Formats: sequence, structure tokens, C-alpha cells
Amino acid sequence: MASQAFAHGADIVVVGCGAAGLSAAIEAADLGADVLVLESQPQPAGSTRLSAGYAVFCETDLEPGSADELYDDLLEAHHDDHDEALVRLYVSRAPAAYARLKEIGVEFVRTFQFAHMRRPWGHEVASETLHGGAELGKRLEDAARKRGVRIITSARARKLICDEAGRVIGLEAETTDGVRSIEARSAIVLASGGFTRNMNLIRNYGPPGTEAIFPITGAGSLGDGLTMALARGADTAYMAAGVAPTGPADPKSGKGTMVIYSGAILLNLDGKRFCNESELYNDISWAGLKQRSALMFQVYDSRIREAYLETMLGRTLVGYDEYRSGDLGELLAAMQAGEGLDAAAAAGTIGRYNKDIAHGADTAQGRTHLVGTSGKPLPIIEPPFFGVTTVPGTTHFNGGLKIDTQMRVIDVFGDPIPGLFAAGEVTGGFHGRGYLSGSHVGMALIFGQIAGRSAADRSAGR
Ligand SMILES: Cc1cc2nc3c(=O)[nH]c(=O)nc-3n(C[C@H](O)[C@H](O)[C@H](O)COP(=O)(O)OP(=O)(O)OC[C@H]3O[C@@H](n4cnc5c(N)ncnc54)[C@H](O)[C@@H]3O)c2cc1C
Repeated sequence: MASQAFAHGADIVVVGCGAAGLSAAIEAADLGADVLVLESQPQPAGSTRLSAGYAVFCETDLEPGSADELYDDLLEAHHDDHDEALVRLYVSRAPAAYARLKEIGVEFVRTFQFAHMRRPWGHEVASETLHGGAELGKRLEDAARKRGVRIITSARARKLICDEAGRVIGLEAETTDGVRSIEARSAIVLASGGFTRNMNLIRNYGPPGTEAIFPITGAGSLGDGLTMALARGADTAYMAAGVAPTGPADPKSGKGTMVIYSGAILLNLDGKRFCNESELYNDISWAGLKQRSALMFQVYDSRIREAYLETMLGRTLVGYDEYRSGDLGELLAAMQAGEGLDAAAAAGTIGRYNKDIAHGADTAQGRTHLVGTSGKPLPIIEPPFFGVTTVPGTTHFNGGLKIDTQMRVIDVFGDPIPGLFAAGEVTGGFHGRGYLSGSHVGMALIFGQIAGRSAADRSAGR
């Protein structure tokens, strides 16, 4: 394929315009590389744009907790099983990556302590009109464009092109002008996000039952980067462990819904609670997958709703379908008629929950906080009342391409594939068998920066 005729080219071609791709592009451009970013969708920023934008960092002006402390939390979240070198890399580079983001125009305002965090590692993006992830995507895109990075939307990379020696030298992409061959004079960075919307990959890699997980991710999360690299002999890491639900989502609107973290309770079709609603949302969703039809009803009152809408989650996850009534019995009856919820059992469960909360002890599920170890549960008593029907959804998967600490893609024989780098949700290993909230955006940003620098080093012959 060395004599391939290329229509376009750049030193570095980045596949995907989310947090990982844009971070890589910015770093490579600052090191003097000519960078082209291809984005399959009409609008950039993929799942990053839809996200709340929380990013896990340590040793920052907002959270001084140390790299070692963060490492311990990550290890616990990853169930003691992950790629040690990648996690060490993450915590050691987090402070500098955070400083670099501030330098290029991404500000953070406060921190948030999610479940299983001993310190509030989740850094919230400063945003006025847009929610966190959209603001993050916009700031990164602005920074990239300012550096002369070219971004082509509606251009879907489909195949990697290699020379006789197996070095990646370009790719084929479907563009609005037809299929084009694009040269990567130095390297390609795969930053195409996850495979949450690729049922074939989910069936092949996910545990039974995981086909029922409802994705609320970017439309481009089709696993393209993964399949393109697999075709060139790439290895994978933690794929089966990575196919897992995250938070509840409303299947009618396709929107994530997390009122539970502000005080809603979760009921199954039988009107019974089946988990502690303040626990990690992945665990809640795994429990949800075991309920009849995987249905989980969030029920709450006006005080809880108001508090939720003030949070970043409430501002980000908007547009879900709500039932509403001034009377709790009528609300539950409507949910019975519309969704099959056992209204009488649900009324009994809510009555018991309210009594328990008033006495300071949730006898059914041991809930003591709203989320993790923050906030106190509230009784559901202030009209009007609300309900949302949700199922276990997902915002990301964890497994993907095997990479080393330079973000080189590793093949099935343990060797780097020449000219091929990857970062973000397309990769696996960092999360191992679990996940700490905020570490996906964090990983896309930190490892994206490293991928961009590694690719540019190659371009400069270093
Ligand atoms: C609702 C929601 C809330 C979330 N909240 C958080 C949070 O607060 N904190 C956190 O850590 N994580 C969160 N996540 C997960 C997190 O957003 C993602 O894992 C992370 O943003 C992935 O970044 P990325 O750059 O790897 O991928 P993406 O942001 O998905 O970017 C990949 C891009 O590549 C494009 N692409 C795909 N295939 C091709 C192709 N063949 N050619 C060209 N382009 C292609 C996609 O269209 C996309 O634009 C959330 C996700 C969602 C959906």
C-alpha cells in the first residue's frame, strides 16, 4: 500500500473530536505539528458534549488531596484490578494536565464528592450558559482552532492504511464528497470514543443481559476506532468487564435521570425498593438489570425536584418525561395505568420510607445519605409529586484498545503498532474492572494530552 494516492493529509490525523481528540490535537499543534481532526457526526464533541464534564484530578488549587490518595480511591473503584502503569500515569500527570487546561482556557469552579471518593476529586467545569460537558467541548474546540487545527465534521474514518512494514500511514474516510484517502505523515491518534451503540460488539464482549443497557451516549459511539485497529492486529484490554451499565435513563426521551442523588427513591414494577439509592449508580443499574423488564421508577416531591435542578447533574440531564400530580395516590395510579407500576404496593413503600427517614434510619435499604456520604435523605411529602420511568442506561463503557504509557496502540503480540496512538474511551486498561465517577472525562483529557505529545514527538523525529 506504499504507493497509495492520498487526497488530503496532515502530519497527525486525529479520529474523533471529543475531549481526547481535541486534547491530543491541541498538544500536537503546540509542538509544531500540522493537525487534522475528523469527526463522523455533523457536530463535534461526542459524549463529551453530552456529559456533566466532571473530571477527576488531584493536587489542584480546588482539591489538594495527593496522587497517592487518589490512586487508592481508583484502585478501590477498579476492584483492585487495572493496568497499574496507566493508573500511576494518570495520578502523576493529573496536576500538570489540570494546570495545562487552565492555561488553554478551561476553568474549574468547585469539586464534587461522588460515591466511593474519600475526597471530592470531581472537578466541575466553570460554565454560564452551557452545561459542563458542552462548555468543556466548546473551550477545547476554540483552543484547537486558535492553534490552526483543522476540523472536518461529517467525515467518518473507516479503515486504516498501512505500508508494507505495517506502519500506519493514513486512513480511508467517508466524507460528504465520497470516500477519501487521507495521509497521516507522522501518526494517527484514535480518539473515537466508546462502542456503547454497537450491538454486535456488545453481544461479542458483554456478559449476557447487557444488550438491554440503554445508551445515552454520543451518536458516533459505534466503536469505529476499535474495529479499525482490531483489523490491524490491535490487542484489547478489559473488554468484557467494560461492558456495564452506568446510570438510570428514561427510554422514552433517551435522557439520563439521576433524581435519586437528590432524594428520589427507586421502585421496581412491584412497587418495592431494591437498592440503596445513594450508592454508586453502576451498582444501582446492575441491580436494576435484575428487576422485571429492568424497570426502575424514580419517585420524588417538589422539594427534591427543586434541589435536583440546582445541581450540575440536574442541569445536564434534562428533557426526561415526568409524571406529575398534586396528589401522591393519583401520581402512582397514573404510573400504574401508563407503566404497570403496582400503585398500592408503591404507596406502602413510600409511607414506610417517609416514617423511616423521620426516625433517622432507613430500615429497608440502609440509606443514610443522598449520594455517597453527602446530604441527608428527605421524606417524599411536599406536593406536587413526580415520577420518571427509567431503565439501566449507560454513559460509557470501560474496556477498549490496549495502550502503553505513551498511548501507543499495542498489538496482539505485545508490540506497538507503528504510527498508531489512541486515547479516551476507545482505550481499555485504565479502568480495569470498575470506574470512579469523573475519571472518563479525566482520562480523555489527561491521556489525550499525552497521545498528542507522543504523536508530535514522532512527527519531530524525537
Ligand atoms: C450523559 C453523559 C454524562 C457523562 N458524564 C460524565 C462525567 O461527568 N464525568 C466523566 O468522567 N464521564 C462522563 N461521561 C462519560 C464521558 O463523557 C466519556 O467517556 C468521555 O467524554 C469520552 O471522551 P472521548 O473523547 O474518548 O469520546 P467522545 O467524547 O465520545 O468523542 C469521540 C468522538 O469521535 C467521533 N467518532 C466516532 N467514530 C468516528 C469515526 N469513525 N470517524 C471520526 N469520528 C468518529 C464521535 O462522534 C465523537 O464525537 C458522561 C457521558 C454521558 C453520555
